[in-house]
Amino acid sequence: MICQRDTCDRPSRSRGLCENHYRQLLRIERGTPPKDPAVALAARRKSIVKAQEANQLRARERLDELLFLLEGGEWPPRACERLDWSISAAVKAARRYDVRPVYMALENYRRDEAA
Ligand SMILES: [Zn+2]
Repeated sequence: MICQRDTCDRPSRSRGLCENHYRQLLRIERGTPPKDPAVALAARRKSIVKAQEANQLRARERLDELLFLLEGGEWPPRACERLDWSISAAVKAARRYDVRPVYMALENYRRDEAA
């Protein structure tokens, strides 16, 4: 048996419909309209953008805290550790958001370590 929907040739699972069309029918019966792929995609994009914005906000907040700690004289690796950040990740974020005092301090520290 194949799905009863005209344009569908997937095997039927329940009530003469394939898995997808059966789920779609259940959504209609429950009063949840079937997802329009374009709407679903737009919602997905929106949630990705929101997550990116949240990440950026977190990065900026962490950079602010890092700057505060470093200005307070905290030892750079300890300051990063307190924010649960690796030094290289912190340098990358500081460069991305152009927080010069932070990446200068961390890069100076790393250069001194290497010397
Ligand atoms: Zn089908």
